[in-house]
Amino acid sequence: MPTPATSSLQRSRSPLADPRWQRARLDGVDLAGRDGDFAAAAEVALKAPLSVTGIEILQLNLGRRCNLACVHCHVDAGPDRKEDMSRATAERCLEVMEASGAGVVDITGGAPEMSDQFEFLVQGARAAGRHVIDRCNLSILLTRPYAHLVDFLAEHEVEVVASLPHYRKLSTDRQRGDGVFDDSIEALRRLNERGYGRDPKLRLVLVTNPVGAFLPAGQASLEAEWKRELKRAYDIDFDALFTITNMPISRYLEWLETKGQTEAYLRKLVDAFNPASVAGVMCRNTLSVGWDGRLFDCDFNQMLDIGLTGGLPGHIDSFELEPIARRTVATGRHCFGCTAGAGSSCGGATT
Ligand code: SF4
Ligand code: SF4
Repeated sequence: MPTPATSSLQRSRSPLADPRWQRARLDGVDLAGRDGDFAAAAEVALKAPLSVTGIEILQLNLGRRCNLACVHCHVDAGPDRKEDMSRATAERCLEVMEASGAGVVDITGGAPEMSDQFEFLVQGARAAGRHVIDRCNLSILLTRPYAHLVDFLAEHEVEVVASLPHYRKLSTDRQRGDGVFDDSIEALRRLNERGYGRDPKLRLVLVTNPVGAFLPAGQASLEAEWKRELKRAYDIDFDALFTITNMPISRYLEWLETKGQTEAYLRKLVDAFNPASVAGVMCRNTLSVGWDGRLFDCDFNQMLDIGLTGGLPGHIDSFELEPIARRTVATGRHCFGCTAGAGSSCGGATT
C-alpha cells in the first residue's frame, strides 16, 4: 500500500479547506498591474461573454473518497474523506443524462471507483448507449475490493483516462506518495493485458500535470516522449497523452502558499493567457454534478463552491434543460489556469 504524499486540508484543519478562503486568497493576489478580470479577457477573445454551447458532457463527481492523498489534488480527496453520491442522486443523474442528450458521461472523484454508485452509473450510461469515461488514478485497480474493475471496465468498453504525473518514479512518487509509481505501472500492465491501449475499442489515455509551479510542455511532443519511454522501460502502450495545467486551488494552492509561489504562479497564468484557447474551455460543453447533486460549470468551480449564475437551478433535482444549456459561465481568477499557453481541460490542451 503506497504511503500518502500528504493529508487532506480538511483533516489538517487548514483554512484552505474552506472554498471561501481559497477564493479570497486568489482575489487578494497582487498581480502587479496585470488585469485579473477573466470574464473581460474571455469576452474580448470570444467577442461575446463566455457562455455554454450545449451540454455534450455530463461530468459526475462521485465524491471525495480516494486511496491516495496527492500533493496537487484540486479536490482535497483522500482516505479520510467520506463524501459519496447517494443512489437517489445517481438515478437522477441518469435521468438528466437522458433529458440533456449528453453523449458523454465523464465520471470523476476522488477515486470514483470507490463510490458505491460507480458500477451502477457505468452500467446505466452504457445501457443507454453513452460513451463513458472513468478518470482513474491507476493504483486503485490494484486494491482488493476493486481489482475486478479492469474486467468490468473492459466489458463495458469504458474509456480509461488515467492520471500519472510522470513516467519517472521519483517525480510521480513525490506528488502521489511512495510506491504509487510502481503500482501505476502494474495497473497499466493489467490494462494492456486486457486490451486497453491495444484494442481500438478500449481507449487508454494518460494525463500528466507539471510536478512544480510551471506550465505543461507541448502535448504532442510530450506524448511522443512518453510513448517512447514507457514502451522502452515497461512495454506499456497507451493511445494518447493529455497535459493539464495545475489549477491554483485546494491542495495545489496550499503547496504554492508553502513555497511562497502563489503570486508568481497566478501572474504566470495571467501572462500566458491565450485568446485562442478560450473557445475550447470545457465549461462550454459540460455540466458538472457534485456528489450531493449540486450543479456547476466545471469541476474547478465545484471545488471553489461557485455555483451556476443567473438564478439557475442549483441542484440536479430541479434541472431545466433550456436555461442551463444556454447559461453564461461563472468565472474567477482561477480560470486563467484553463487558458494559459496551449490551454487546459479534462481533454488536455485546447488549442
Ligand atoms: S489527485 Fe486524484 S488520485 Fe490524487 S488524491 Fe486527488 S483524486 Fe485522489
Ligand atoms: S475554471 Fe471552469 S469555469 Fe473557469 S474557464 Fe475553466 S472550465 Fe470554465
